[in-house]
Amino acid sequence: MELCDKSALELSRLLRKGEITSRDITESVFQRIHEKESSINAFITTTPDLAFQQADKADRRLRKEKNRSPLMGIPIAIKDILCTKGIRTTCGSKMLGNFFPAYHATVVDRILDQGAVLIGKTNMDEFGMGSSTENSIIGPTHNPLHPDYVSGGSSGGSAAAVAAGETILAIGTDTGGSIRLPSAFCGIVGMKPTYGRVSRYGLIAYASSLDQVGAMGRSVQDCALLLDEMTGHDPLDSTSADMAGSNFLDSITHDIKGIKIGIPKEYFIQGLDPRIQDHIMEAVSLLKANGATIREISLPHTQYAVSAYYLIATAEACSNLARYDGVRYGFRATDDIEDTITMYEATRSLGFGREVKRRIMLGTYVLSAGYYDAYYLKAQKVRTLIREDFIKAFENVDCIIAPVSPCLPFKLGEKMDDPLQMYLVDIYTVSLNLSGLPGMSIPCGSADGLPIGMQIIGRPFDEQMVFNVGYAYEELSGD
Ligand code: GLN
Repeated sequence: MELCDKSALELSRLLRKGEITSRDITESVFQRIHEKESSINAFITTTPDLAFQQADKADRRLRKEKNRSPLMGIPIAIKDILCTKGIRTTCGSKMLGNFFPAYHATVVDRILDQGAVLIGKTNMDEFGMGSSTENSIIGPTHNPLHPDYVSGGSSGGSAAAVAAGETILAIGTDTGGSIRLPSAFCGIVGMKPTYGRVSRYGLIAYASSLDQVGAMGRSVQDCALLLDEMTGHDPLDSTSADMAGSNFLDSITHDIKGIKIGIPKEYFIQGLDPRIQDHIMEAVSLLKANGATIREISLPHTQYAVSAYYLIATAEACSNLARYDGVRYGFRATDDIEDTITMYEATRSLGFGREVKRRIMLGTYVLSAGYYDAYYLKAQKVRTLIREDFIKAFENVDCIIAPVSPCLPFKLGEKMDDPLQMYLVDIYTVSLNLSGLPGMSIPCGSADGLPIGMQIIGRPFDEQMVFNVGYAYEELSGD
């Protein structure tokens, strides 16, 4: 096995014992990028020079420092939606095609302080808007397991890079499923923490009340290892929870005896691919056979989740994206500014892609006078009902198991002309963002060689439960 295919946890042990160096791992990762990147397209930017400098620095620190982070010397890729000082940050958009931030996002600062090695910035749907990583200025990211299929989105570059061994770990963001869906489609583990658990400072905003940064890796423990380095209060983000950093990795246990798992009856209905249903039910039986109690639960407002999400997300997006007007930074269509309105129009028409423009128009419509109450306000009320469904369910269960996606990975281009079909892929993921809950996607078998993801949902700030159940399943299934 090549170093780039090993888990972060194992690499960290080998580094500690002095059997390998961070430079060895970094070389292995860039060798894999060299072999595979032309067929996957997971990266918008790679940063080899910086990576080798950081690897050498990590090797020096590994020799000197006693209490070091398990992340030290481990290669990591970052979604191109997080600001990296002096490193181009495009958000998958022509609008930011030449944007070099003046500061690091807090999560980037934190992991680099711990000695992680930055491999590059990963491909994504423009501004996070999409479920397939097909809406990007550099073109789609291909599924590493099947090049004709999508990688899922919007953090498809991060998921594909992890799956292909082009990085060991990756950071993604999740507004309506963008960590969990590509993790499911590429057969890796992806964790969206509770809203407020991880700082959003330096994250380019899509829909601020839904956006959350999270961890992606090839095992549950690897995700816990990474997330532990990202959590903790940040005074620079007013929505960051006032709590200490986490210790998920050290607290992880596979003992699930007596844990009560809820199965939402509204989730396993027509429209869910029966192969996905079968695999998840098999997983549930396995957990039951090992001591978990299974209970049917009801989340009665599930059917309204996609509509509520696409009203709230587009409303927030149209407001957040108003800043891209060609005046202060980013793309400007013309310098011939006789007329400011013409400059705005040309800049926004040429700088944004089709899907982003569709979202801005939808969002503007639902916020406009006369429609605000009928759409936006109503969606906010539905959001409360969806959250209350979960709070009620969690009175009787410790976690919830669900599909991540109603369908298997689909072919590139298959849903591009039908936005509604694309939006429906998010049916099982958006409720968590509307409710702020933590959720993980974990590999759960495959059908026709295409991976299936199982979703584990926890109470607010109970990521530990999600990690434990995920870890137990990983051990039991041998996946
Ligand atoms: N697919 C969803 C959307 O397009 C979610 C994207 C995300 O989580 N960033 O809005």
